[in-house]
Amino acid sequence: MTTTAKGSAIEMCAHPDCKRDNGKPTHTPDGMCQGCQRRVASALERVVLDWVQLHQLPAPNKGDKMRGAKVKDYGHPAEWASDMMTQIATCLRAAHDNLASSVAEQGHKPPGEGYPSERAAVVSAHTYLATRIDKLCRQDWAPDIIAEWHGLHSKVRSQLGLTRPRIALPTPCPDCDMRTLTRYIDVQRDWIECGNCQTQIRSEHYPLWTRMVLEELVTEAHS
Ligand SMILES: [Zn+2]
Ligand SMILES: [Zn+2]
Repeated sequence: MTTTAKGSAIEMCAHPDCKRDNGKPTHTPDGMCQGCQRRVASALERVVLDWVQLHQLPAPNKGDKMRGAKVKDYGHPAEWASDMMTQIATCLRAAHDNLASSVAEQGHKPPGEGYPSERAAVVSAHTYLATRIDKLCRQDWAPDIIAEWHGLHSKVRSQLGLTRPRIALPTPCPDCDMRTLTRYIDVQRDWIECGNCQTQIRSEHYPLWTRMVLEELVTEAHS
């Protein structure tokens, strides 16, 4: 089996949407340029947070007319959310599997099918991929996966964003120390902000928050 990693030749940035060179893809020896690598890193965090946010949606209450609380006022069927979660998990697993096969690090086997739960697969893919963005960006198949992440995220955002749901993060704000951090999502964008001091979490810190959210929120709510 040959690996599909790009060598160190200078080539056009392979990111599906690179406009670094006056609107055109720039050239890089790294598969994707540094700017695009940062975008790939945040695209990963976004789809994982999307998965968490879908996971936190309350199950629909059949016949329950209590629609007062706006957070619970979802206009979409739960099947849609569960289908999106599966698509996100499948896509993350594929990236994890492909990269682990290509990179063939000692002591790390490609995960294959052996996961006890969708959550375990998502946690493991996030942990693996978040620290190997540079390697991911050198793979020939990376642009397709990244395009898929963008597609999934924009689907989630356009659907969920209509109701502007939010999730409270289980960790204190780095600035004011209050437990008032929230991830917001609307049709246009998504962001993490403190409800007390309005600090916005910078995207380079997302991997940390995502990991904490995966560990605390998801296990607490459903195990
Ligand atoms: Zn680029
Ligand atoms: Zn704060």
